[in-house]
Amino acid sequence: REGWDLVNARFPNMVIADWMMPEMDGVELCRRIRQAAFHRYVYIILVTAKDCQEDVVEGLNAGADDYIRKPYNPTELQLRITAGMRIIRLEDQLAQRNDELQQLNVRLEELARIDPLMRIGNRNSFYEAIERLHNQVLRYGKGYGLLMCDVDYFKLYNDTCGHQAGDRVLFEVARQIKQHIRPSDEAFRYGGEEVVILLPEQNREGAHRSGQRVCDAVREMKMPHPKGVGGIVTISVGASWCEVDRAPRDWKIVLEEADQALYRAKAEGRNRVCLHDTDLVAHSAGV
Ligand code: GH3
Ligand code: MG
Ligand code: MG
Repeated sequence: REGWDLVNARFPNMVIADWMMPEMDGVELCRRIRQAAFHRYVYIILVTAKDCQEDVVEGLNAGADDYIRKPYNPTELQLRITAGMRIIRLEDQLAQRNDELQQLNVRLEELARIDPLMRIGNRNSFYEAIERLHNQVLRYGKGYGLLMCDVDYFKLYNDTCGHQAGDRVLFEVARQIKQHIRPSDEAFRYGGEEVVILLPEQNREGAHRSGQRVCDAVREMKMPHPKGVGGIVTISVGASWCEVDRAPRDWKIVLEEADQALYRAKAEGRNRVCLHDTDLVAHSAGV
């Protein structure tokens, strides 16, 4: 028991324990150490007077790495300790590699999902998110809004100010959008200068309001755009929404509706929000 307390207090690399002990024997000590799953590997050598085959099997089964019979030969014990230290070093290296691998995996996941320029989710993560949200609505009800935003006259911006300045505008626009949506909303880069925003639990009015908010917010940045609406960078926004009693089976219809609304916003003069008109595309629940 004292040994167990010591292991918990000091987290040693190696434990050399007698087999027969009062209160807690060596096999039980082994079991506890293995169950505790310490952050580093503990190498266990049991010292035993027993040499019955089954006892040795029991000790190894309980998690001992090695055993040595009493009375032990000090040279042999020394060699077994050296072998144990080798294993400990390998275990440490393995744990370190695992940590590195885990960090790399997190980074890889990020690279696969986050757009490096706008620092928001990319199109693939948008597809995953809208698929999930849409299925939730079909199964549990309620609804969501969808905004499709597009920077106005952005080709002209690049042509007059250069692509690098254009990249900075895209970064700033995305940052501003993120700051003007609710924490539960999520923005994704859909394409070149297009951002889609998912608005969980929003209805028609909510989607329209959110669209207006991001449109206003980008205009309020007053980033100069020589050929832009009013000489500044603006966006046009198409808004659509989905609610359980009018939900199409496929979210692509909701996306298409936002796209049509965006097209109208562009046609009507840009720097504005248009809400999809339900009457334009007829569909009913389950179609
Ligand atoms: P509209 O108001 O109708 O949206 O006009 P627009 O010029 O914005 O539309 P268009 O689709 O013709 O141009 C989009 C431009 O966005 C073209 C492309 O050069 C630019 N673009 C796309 N991706 C990037 C990017 O990552 N960086 C920069 N700097 N420009 C980009
Ligand atoms: Mg575009
Ligand atoms: Mg554009």
